[in-house]
Amino acid sequence: MSNKKVILVTGASSGMGKETALQLIKEGHIVYGAARRVEKMQDLVKAGGYALELDVIDEKQLENAVNQIITEQGKIDVLINNAGYATYGSVEETPIADARRQFDVNIFGLARLTQLVIPYMRAQKSGKIINISSMGGKIYFPLGAWYHATKHALEGWSDSLRLELKPFNIDVIIIEPGAIATEFGDVMTEPMLKRSGNGPYSAVAQSMAKAVKDSYEQKNASSPPSLIANAIAKAIKSKRPKTRYRLGKLAKPLVWMRTYLGDRIFDRVVMSQVK
Ligand code: NDP
Repeated sequence: MSNKKVILVTGASSGMGKETALQLIKEGHIVYGAARRVEKMQDLVKAGGYALELDVIDEKQLENAVNQIITEQGKIDVLINNAGYATYGSVEETPIADARRQFDVNIFGLARLTQLVIPYMRAQKSGKIINISSMGGKIYFPLGAWYHATKHALEGWSDSLRLELKPFNIDVIIIEPGAIATEFGDVMTEPMLKRSGNGPYSAVAQSMAKAVKDSYEQKNASSPPSLIANAIAKAIKSKRPKTRYRLGKLAKPLVWMRTYLGDRIFDRVVMSQVK
């Protein structure tokens, strides 16, 4: 494989996806960014990349995206499954349709795209699939049941896939970011308050909204998306990438606490921040 790789990044219209796509273009790779808001990817095009309109829950658009890259480049070396968002709200008050959509975007859309890409990687006997999970795939916050369910699922799904694809020389790499300053907090907060901001869970919903706002707006409370972009670029370069990269504000200490101090202490620590 030459050093110049053909790379598809989902969720490239904002946050970590955009930052990663821009960095990989700068490093000389052929980069396709994909998202629903194509107009927000014009900077990628200006930088020398490509922008594809893609809603990851739209089967036809998924097929078109992969077909276009194969037609234009003949291969896909790296798939970065980054598109995603957080559905927050109490389990009691979150409509099941919203919960299903959360799984459709964060799990099934990602899984379907992966299915479409694997045959090409298998044929060339190389490839890297990089799944953006979260520290939230190992820990949890109140009102985040559906989001954490998708990211916990993605962890196990990716681990199994790694074993499955190893014989074909395809690496599966999990990224577990901590708090990263992107549009993520805004996308999650308003719908959460709509679902749970006025009923029996209003106190915890209001404090979660405040905690999220603080963590994305206060200085040093979150990390820049470039931190994740660098880790992804490093994993792409590496002959033997790690199975997991956990980095960004709070990711290491919070996962450590949950693992070594246990659930009850972790519950107390989390709830002490949300009141
Ligand atoms: P942003 O909200 O800034 O970016 C999310 C990206 O996902 C956007 O480009 C958006 O594009 C895209 N997206 C959302 N829904 C869809 C869809 N149905 N089809 C295609 N694209 C979609 O957030 P981040 O950069 O923070 O999020 C990237 C990933 O990182 C997510 O998987 C998130 O769960 C994860 N993460 C984020 C953390 C954080 O603190 N920020 C922490 C840990 C993990 P568009 O709307 O144009 O379609």
